Amino acid sequence: MFLVPDSQTLRPIVALLIVLCAACGSSDAEYESSVSAIGVATLAPEGVADLVIRNGKIATLTEDAPEASALAARSGRIVAVGNDTDVASWIGDETYLIDLAGRLAIPGFIEGHGHFMSLGNSKMILNLTGANTWQEIVEMVAASAREAEPGSWVTGRGWHQEKWTVLPNPMIEGLPIHDGLSAVSPENPVVLTHASGHASFVNAKALEIAGITRDTKNPDGGEIVRDASGEPTGMLRETAQRLVREVFAHAEAGRSAEEIESVEREKVRLANAELLRKGVTSFQDAGSGFATIDLLKRMAEEGKLPVRLYVMIRGGYDELAGRLADYRMIGYGDSRLTVRSIKQVVDGALGSHGAWLLQPYADMPSSSGLATNPPEQIERVARLAIEHGYQVNTHAIGDRGNREVLDLYERTFVDHRGRTDLRWRIEHAQHIDPVDIPRFGQLGVIASMQGIHQCSDGPWVMLRLGEGRARSGAYVWQDLMRAGAVVTNGTDVPVEDVDPLESYHCTVTRQLNNGSAFFADQAMTREEALRSYTISNAYAAFEEDIKGTLEVGKLADITILSQDILTIPVDEILETEVDFTIVGGQTLYIREP
Ligand SMILES: [Zn+2]
Repeated sequence: MFLVPDSQTLRPIVALLIVLCAACGSSDAEYESSVSAIGVATLAPEGVADLVIRNGKIATLTEDAPEASALAARSGRIVAVGNDTDVASWIGDETYLIDLAGRLAIPGFIEGHGHFMSLGNSKMILNLTGANTWQEIVEMVAASAREAEPGSWVTGRGWHQEKWTVLPNPMIEGLPIHDGLSAVSPENPVVLTHASGHASFVNAKALEIAGITRDTKNPDGGEIVRDASGEPTGMLRETAQRLVREVFAHAEAGRSAEEIESVEREKVRLANAELLRKGVTSFQDAGSGFATIDLLKRMAEEGKLPVRLYVMIRGGYDELAGRLADYRMIGYGDSRLTVRSIKQVVDGALGSHGAWLLQPYADMPSSSGLATNPPEQIERVARLAIEHGYQVNTHAIGDRGNREVLDLYERTFVDHRGRTDLRWRIEHAQHIDPVDIPRFGQLGVIASMQGIHQCSDGPWVMLRLGEGRARSGAYVWQDLMRAGAVVTNGTDVPVEDVDPLESYHCTVTRQLNNGSAFFADQAMTREEALRSYTISNAYAAFEEDIKGTLEVGKLADITILSQDILTIPVDEILETEVDFTIVGGQTLYIREP
């Protein structure tokens, strides 16, 4: 694997975690030792809190007392919420005191849909999210290829053609051809994954190793983009990416088990550091295989999962059928790991015309997108899931994809009337036919959405769908909530940065880069947006009894922000800093002054 060292990004976190460990310096080993110290055993005598927060505003998000000014925690749980006088008796010599000095404490952010290992991985490969031209990307690859071992892979992720300020020349379907990329890396195969994950751009060496030529047929559910003469351009859509990923995986498989595990552990470590820095205390992982879950379980036992994980299982029918019974776990390792859901995917992404629509694309009338997996196959898995007491969380972006998933959920529910409170989810639920909006409420299906996608994708959503469909069905948060649906929030990291404040800002503004708002009447209020990121996400994971609000008995997972995002002028929200991230009463991140 090709690695880009990321010590700069990590360094502040390392330095900040010293609060757990008086003797810590700033090396990676010390980060490990500080994180491994995580546990709930309290050192304080009975009746004394491990943590007291006071002198500020605490948004508890509870019905009875939505606002408080002080809070105390002991053994990982909240033991008192009220004012400074209410918590005074909990303070002892061993108590860690945080003076809010007027700042805002909220229930820790819960990322509702992200990719945990990919977040870690994104810190180890070329990060292309900031590239404003194709040429910039080619130069980044050139620099990597110069330092890479001959034949090793150069990998990157996060490019998006809609960000490019200069159009590539020549250009096919809005994208470059591979010549420039191939010229700077003739001996090293290059794979650059699109921000959406639904396409990859590769160079000539990668095409050669994968055996992709003008004669290679498109695989089902995918496309090898070609130029006018039929030659592959380097762009691989949807399942066509597998042709290259398989040879990459084969190259990776040559590593020893120890090498593989140490890279995987590094991803976990990098992901945790990034999440704590951004104020995220729980993370819902949208699909990992059994081997990853095994590793996470071991790391939970070792106390090396500071951020609490809810992991959706990804696997084929036979594998799921054989293993589901052994993998259901709730709050494993001191409430660090929960596995009770299965991830399915029905279609692709809107940006790459992969979302499955009821009517053709406005800007590509020859296509209505496609099913990446047949609904019958998803229904088979859904029936297996319901029998094993698992939730089903299915990716659906287009209105056809959403309808097919609602239909198959409904059929499964009807055949299992005895099973209630299922909370099945549709991941993204991005574009819904108005006829289907009320069905979310009626069926109790959760709309697992990502606020930030609306602002990033808004400009081309209009192109893909046309104004009518965009207005009536795209990111219709308010319509869904009015129809009784629970709407959650998140970022789909690494598709977007995992920063909850960016997504929060978008959720309350629906503001596009050009300053205009995308159907502003669907925006959430500040409080609705905060609830979507906390208690609604907790509900979507059956965790509303232990997370999502700040009240006595719940886990002391708290994020402290530099300013009050519920009341400051809206354009100041993005200037807000995460000052403290607290998980289970332990302060795991403090911002450097
Ligand atoms: Zn995702």
